[in-house]
Amino acid sequence: MKTAWQRFAQFTHSIRFRLVMWFTLILALILFVFSGLIYIRLLKDIRGEASYRLEQKLEYVLRYAQIINGTILLPDGLIGKNDVLVLMDTNRKILASTGKIPAEPVIALLSTKQAASPDPDQDDTRPMLVGTLSPYGSYALITGRATDLLGQSFTAILGTPFDAYDLIGRLTLTLLLGNALTLAIAIAGGFWLADRAMRPVHTITQTARTISETDLSHRLNIQGQDEIGELAQTFDAMLARLEAAFQRQRQFIADASHELRTPLTIVNLQTSRALAAKRSTVEYQRALGIIQSENELMTNLVNDLLTLARMDNTQTAFETAPLDLSDVALEALERLESLAERHHVRLEAGDLPEAPINGNRQLILQLVSNLLENGIKYSSGTEKFVRLEIELRSAQICLRVRDNGRGIPAEHLPHLFHRFYRADTARARDESGETPGGTGLGLAIAQSIVQAHGGQIEVQSAENTGTVFEIHFPPLQPD
Ligand code: ADP
Repeated sequence: MKTAWQRFAQFTHSIRFRLVMWFTLILALILFVFSGLIYIRLLKDIRGEASYRLEQKLEYVLRYAQIINGTILLPDGLIGKNDVLVLMDTNRKILASTGKIPAEPVIALLSTKQAASPDPDQDDTRPMLVGTLSPYGSYALITGRATDLLGQSFTAILGTPFDAYDLIGRLTLTLLLGNALTLAIAIAGGFWLADRAMRPVHTITQTARTISETDLSHRLNIQGQDEIGELAQTFDAMLARLEAAFQRQRQFIADASHELRTPLTIVNLQTSRALAAKRSTVEYQRALGIIQSENELMTNLVNDLLTLARMDNTQTAFETAPLDLSDVALEALERLESLAERHHVRLEAGDLPEAPINGNRQLILQLVSNLLENGIKYSSGTEKFVRLEIELRSAQICLRVRDNGRGIPAEHLPHLFHRFYRADTARARDESGETPGGTGLGLAIAQSIVQAHGGQIEVQSAENTGTVFEIHFPPLQPD
């Protein structure tokens, strides 16, 4: 059982979690930038508006303000109830002030702000200063100099609440709440979506867990055109291929054991019979002859199995070299001369032009020998022949082995290159005893060799007329 912490750690490593986190992070970044832009825009607007209002009012103040006995005379309604106006003489002595806010904190704020600003006394631009006037809140201040009608010079400080309607505060709250809600919805929606998207992956994992080497029959059966559907279908196809491969392998082992069992039984039988009682020399010779022939068959079978295993193992690359196919063909003809004689078959060398290919001499020799041997073994009638010829074509080299033997019934042709397949089981064992019976692997080996050389093998046959095996090799590529 997993602890809660382990489950949480596993969750944080899941694609679902990472997907949602990345998505949320990107969304948060977008929201932050977007909110920031809105905030800056609003701040600028409020500043512009406050500055415009203050400029207008200050213009009036500087033109019409009169100080009579510490009181400022001004047109009605010019200074609002939250505004503040302080007039000072050139020595910064307070001449008069209006509004509910006392003059001192206003002057103090102005001094600190002016000290911080680079050019405090620049009159013509009249920079607006913004600061907090506790406890009255954020204020915008502007200053200007003038002389009233009585000839008194003064400096006016005019202040107004910077954000009278608390637009900034309200916008900040709205943005905060809105963004938090958006992110919460995005996280919840993201998990929901990721969960849905990842569900088939979970099914795939579960199915993969239940699959064992002995039972590859499970399938995911997830339909769909999306990526997951494609993955599941690929997985199913892979399982089908694996199942078929395992099945073939099992069949192969069963067939190989079966093939070995018959000769072993015969050897056993012959030895038991020979040992059971005293036999004549002729009988012993006969028994030993049978044992030798069965032994030869088993040796052939084991050799063929080894060759197939080597060919199947794609890791053990065999050596290839440029060689003349006609040269190898002649060598194979020579090798099988005596077998042909024994079967009264004429071995004919047809056209054998020089045919350079890239290949493994030993394997090509085995390939040609297998085909010639079959032609000889399955010959029938009088005037028996097996002919070998090579034809050079523009893009390939064609090697042909033709015989006028018993032929192969059409229904067997599609299976001919399968391992252990014999078209005629009754005659597979050579009754004459001169040649050991076939293993049913000769053509399978031939096909493996041809494929390993990038070629193709084809067969045409008519019963009681003859058979033609045709192999197409790619020609040697010049460097
Ligand atoms: P085998 O060891 O039995 O010869 P092969 O794989 O070489 O195995 O051949 C498979 C079967 O194809 C043979 O059993 C035989 O029935 C048939 N066959 C192969 N070559 C010929 C041929 N030239 N003429 C007639 N039948 C053939």
